[in-house]
Amino acid sequence: MARRRMVYEGKAKILYEGPEPGTLIQYFKDDATAFNAQKHDVIDGKGVLNNRISEHIMTALTGIGVPNHFIRRINMREQLIRAVEIIPIEIVVRNVAAGSLSKRLGIEEGTPLPRPIIEFYYKDDKLGDPMVTEEHIIAFNWASQQDIDDMIALALRVNDFLSGLFTGVGIRLVDFKIEAGRIWDGDYSRIIVADEISPDSCRLWDVKTGEKLDKDVFRRDLGSLTDAYTEVARRLGILPENKGNANGPKLVH
Ligand code: UDP
Repeated sequence: MARRRMVYEGKAKILYEGPEPGTLIQYFKDDATAFNAQKHDVIDGKGVLNNRISEHIMTALTGIGVPNHFIRRINMREQLIRAVEIIPIEIVVRNVAAGSLSKRLGIEEGTPLPRPIIEFYYKDDKLGDPMVTEEHIIAFNWASQQDIDDMIALALRVNDFLSGLFTGVGIRLVDFKIEAGRIWDGDYSRIIVADEISPDSCRLWDVKTGEKLDKDVFRRDLGSLTDAYTEVARRLGILPENKGNANGPKLVH
């Protein structure tokens, strides 16, 4: 195959030029980073799992009319996506207190929140992705008020959908992060969900045991990240029940 031109390399993914204008290929690496890349490791198979899980979620979102960048999966580690102008804001939605919210406000992890809370973070590794308000976003021209309203509407729809999806397989959606991008149709632009939705960007706890099935397993050294992500994929029906080593342990529920 002809060598492809790399467009961007991030911590967990690489973007290559796509086969047609307006498309890109998103490659999922096995790299895991946390604490603004101060902690780094390569975790065998993580990229493959995130590619499949993100495909599953984005396809389902398309099915309910939540616009997103996913076109189709190409192979184990790559998917074809629509090229977007990335809005330099991370949108976090929280249903249950955890992570930085718990730390900042002194609310015990696991406390249900009275309503979903949306936060914005400015994407800048050098600054450690600081939290910002709508005022900052508009004043510094990172996005318009209309864009912000669209991002909030998208984030809440994704939250409702994902909460239901995960509840159905015995998983509590604690919080998650999405990114949004702008696509153009002539003079008209609209905001769609971009990047990935996977256990790298969500907090997912087993409903019964509270076991963590997300990147906190890596951040907090709680065991095998691959096992946790495999369990998420298996519950979502992405992996066959008996995949893997036939002599290995069988999960019992
Ligand atoms: N998150 C993410 N990328 C980031 C920061 C946060 O995907 O750069 C996700 C994180 O996995 C969690 C949610 O956003 O699901 C909220 O993260 P939080 O603000 O609690 O930060 P953390 O405790 O992860 O530093």
